[in-house]
Amino acid sequence: MYAKIILKPGKEESLKRFHPWVFSGAIARTEPLSKKNAVQEGDKVQVLSSTGQILGAGHVQIGSIAVRMLRFDQGAIDAAFYEDRMEKALQLRKELRFPRKDNNCFRLVHGEGDFLPGLVVDVYGNTAVMQAHSVGMHVDREIIAQAILKTCGKFIKNVYYKSESTLPFNAGLEVKDGYLEASGTTTKTAPVAVENGIEFYPDWVQGQKTGFFVDQRENRALVEHYAKGKNVLNMFCYTGGFSLYALRGGAKLVHSVDASAKAVELCRRNVALNFGEAAKTHEAYAQDAFDYFHHLEQDPDAPRYNLMIVDPPAFAKHQKVLRQALQGYRKLNAAAIRNIAPGGILFTFSCSQAVSKEDFRLAVFSAAAQTGRKVQILHQLTQPADHPVNIYHPEGEYLKGLVLRVE
Ligand code: SAH
Repeated sequence: MYAKIILKPGKEESLKRFHPWVFSGAIARTEPLSKKNAVQEGDKVQVLSSTGQILGAGHVQIGSIAVRMLRFDQGAIDAAFYEDRMEKALQLRKELRFPRKDNNCFRLVHGEGDFLPGLVVDVYGNTAVMQAHSVGMHVDREIIAQAILKTCGKFIKNVYYKSESTLPFNAGLEVKDGYLEASGTTTKTAPVAVENGIEFYPDWVQGQKTGFFVDQRENRALVEHYAKGKNVLNMFCYTGGFSLYALRGGAKLVHSVDASAKAVELCRRNVALNFGEAAKTHEAYAQDAFDYFHHLEQDPDAPRYNLMIVDPPAFAKHQKVLRQALQGYRKLNAAAIRNIAPGGILFTFSCSQAVSKEDFRLAVFSAAAQTGRKVQILHQLTQPADHPVNIYHPEGEYLKGLVLRVE
């Protein structure tokens, strides 16, 4: 059926506990189907222990993670397999009451957390946006799209593939973003997405990730709760998720800042979509975060913010740059804590998978200590339930947030 990968003695233990990664150092040898057919990146393989016990099957990847396990039995990775996984993913989202009228965007597949390593699927109304993080998922993209349409066809009509920026460069693939064949040839129009009753334009064609950050839904609702009468700074606003909630929560003014002019433009459009052109309490600036904080410190007439959100991009994409990333978080949080008004509330986040909860908290602690201000932790935040964490794969818990009160 598939080529075989035989592990070194004792290296089957983590797989028996359903950890989905096989590291290259654990492999004793590879048995291709024939001498002519060497195993290629993206191929499906069966993984066996040193004594010949079948442990499961997965996708081959070049790098330190050599196989991403998709199943831990003797079965195949075929259309029926993907349909079954999609059905299970859908059942969980139904349990979470997705989709519903006031919440039509959510994550349908969260990689390892949904037992599909290398695959992310976000849903916006009638469109699913699929992201492959492994060559194996890229190879299987059309059967996955068919599985999505078959299991979720009641509400999903189109599947857009967005993987140009997520697949390894060195794989030498010609990846093209666009609607997958399974969606048919009818003209597609992007729906307006709704999150907790707030509307926004998701932009999966030009935007970052799948077009919107669906992982901040619950944390945004908490910002709304604190917003009444506040002067709000939404730093790294992207398309304005937190700003929209702060406005609905009755903020006195909201300033959104992002280095990307395109993001700032879409942030303005999203504010107009919900609050009309007359949303005079909102301003958006295309500016670098550190420059903006510097300007706050220099300008005596600058606004005093008493609610801040600081949600930067991942500073550490991998373990090697961890130290540098922690310094980045420390510097950024020190700037925020120094500049917030007395009694102010700061929402601060890290979405780097390589940065642990403890590391992040330590970075924020050092930042607070640098400023010499008293700081209390009010909430410890994470990702919502449509981004589940496989208990055997704690690496899947990537979003960390602290809500602080600064005296
Ligand atoms: N809070 C957002 C998501 C933030 S994503 C939401 O809820 O949707 C991170 C954002 O940081 C991106 O939009 C990126 O353009 C922006 N960014 C990256 N580097 C920056 C910098 N140095 N200064 C300001 N913005 C930056």
